[in-house]
Amino acid sequence: MNFTDRLKQTIPGDRISTNETVLLNHSKDESFHSANLPDVVVFPKDTQEIVEIMKMANENKIPITAFGVGSGLEGAAIPMKGGISLDLQEMNKILEINPEDFLVRVQPGVTRKQLNKELGKYGLFFSVDPGADATIGGMASTNASGTTTVRYGAMKDNVRDLEVVLADGRVIRTGGKAKKSSSGYNLTELFIGSEGTLGIFTELTLQVYGISEVIMAARAVFKSVDDAVQAAHSLITLGVPIARIELVEGETIQYVNQVFETNYTEGDSLFLEFHGSKGNVETDVQLTREIFTEFGCFQFEFETDSLGRTQLWEARHNSLYALIHNNPGKQVMNTDVCVPLSKLASAIEFTRKCMEESGLKGDIIGHIGDGNFHAGVLINPNNPTDMERADRFNEEIVKYALSCGGTCTGEHGVGLGKIKYQRLQHGEALDVMNSIKQMFDPNGILNPSKIFES
Ligand SMILES: Cc1cc2nc3c(=O)[nH]c(=O)nc-3n(C[C@H](O)[C@H](O)[C@H](O)COP(=O)(O)OP(=O)(O)OC[C@H]3O[C@@H](n4cnc5c(N)ncnc54)[C@H](O)[C@@H]3O)c2cc1C
Repeated sequence: MNFTDRLKQTIPGDRISTNETVLLNHSKDESFHSANLPDVVVFPKDTQEIVEIMKMANENKIPITAFGVGSGLEGAAIPMKGGISLDLQEMNKILEINPEDFLVRVQPGVTRKQLNKELGKYGLFFSVDPGADATIGGMASTNASGTTTVRYGAMKDNVRDLEVVLADGRVIRTGGKAKKSSSGYNLTELFIGSEGTLGIFTELTLQVYGISEVIMAARAVFKSVDDAVQAAHSLITLGVPIARIELVEGETIQYVNQVFETNYTEGDSLFLEFHGSKGNVETDVQLTREIFTEFGCFQFEFETDSLGRTQLWEARHNSLYALIHNNPGKQVMNTDVCVPLSKLASAIEFTRKCMEESGLKGDIIGHIGDGNFHAGVLINPNNPTDMERADRFNEEIVKYALSCGGTCTGEHGVGLGKIKYQRLQHGEALDVMNSIKQMFDPNGILNPSKIFES
């Protein structure tokens, strides 16, 4: 009996698929990395089913790669060794909303927008916003962050507890409901960012927040990227409590205007959001405007109504698609370094110089309140010259970031693209990570060929 037939003894046949289109949809994510087909896609509906699948896979040494919605940008969900693609979309229940403790318990396939729609009924929201409507399981697995991290933190700051199925079928909980704990090793943070290589998350308890009385979105336009970065740095240094602050280069605004029929002034811009009471937000906005004027800001506009704010942020979130839309046939390779704030301006300047020297076209956008920015360069993955240039470009930026104490990936994860920088960034600590992997997954079934060189 082959493995798929054995699976059918535990999981109903309609939740096991070897259909060509289904396999193809699980062979790739949103990155430029080459696709690789799984042998079978399974859609479990609860923890117990995952336990059975894991035990069977572990016994037979069949690779298992978890799949959220495949919005990853580094190929983390690509099943490089075939085997099972474990699609968590059927496990999409919000299990408990606990407004008194500002906690929510969800299954891993719940998406960010689905969760926020439900939380809105209680005047609450979940803060981590990577732009894409990713699953909570996928977001925890890559330690996703995004536009609101400057104020509310990344996934690792907002996950209180995980239920995890280990490779041998054991089910563990890593945390609890309390805001802090000094009891034992911090397994929650170990699993967050592990990209499905240590276990499968089957339940997540998350911290949520009350929706502020007033939310104001603003856009400030500068004469240069450098002015915008310096202005942002100054704002943070002065302790203005911004909820989002994003850099978008002028050329990208031009693409956004063309694709989404908006008419934003086409200059290097900061997109901002302020959360708080009416009085506080007005004071913060006024102070921001004054600081920005000192750095040559020549346009400052804001939106208070929710439609205007949504439109403004949609423009920012869709900037990647705008770039692709304007360059048919091309894909985007995104860099993802994160550096200490004091090095951000020089890192962006260095990146712009390298991009020009590489001959590649692209843009730079950034979660600049965190020191994290993306240079997206347009490539044809089938063109060896493009790939060689993009690779060299990425390497130069990563090395620059590491030389100033930064990281090769601030939020997208290691996936396939950052494997080769792991030794450079972590030194001997990489061997310790490898030992941890061996301990959790001695048969190497969990998302093989990720994080470590195969
Ligand atoms: C337009 C766009 C903008 C983006 N912007 C950002 C951004 O600002 N910040 C950011 O952080 N990311 C960003 N991303 C990347 C992406 O949204 C994140 O990496 C997201 O966390 C992936 O979630 P997913 O559900 O799509 O997971 P997938 O891509 O399906 O999987 C990602 C990884 O998680 C693992 N995984 C999935 N579910 C589980 C589970 N239950 N248990 C264990 N492992 C699991 C997979 O095996 C894989 O290793 C962006 C993507 C796009 C397309």
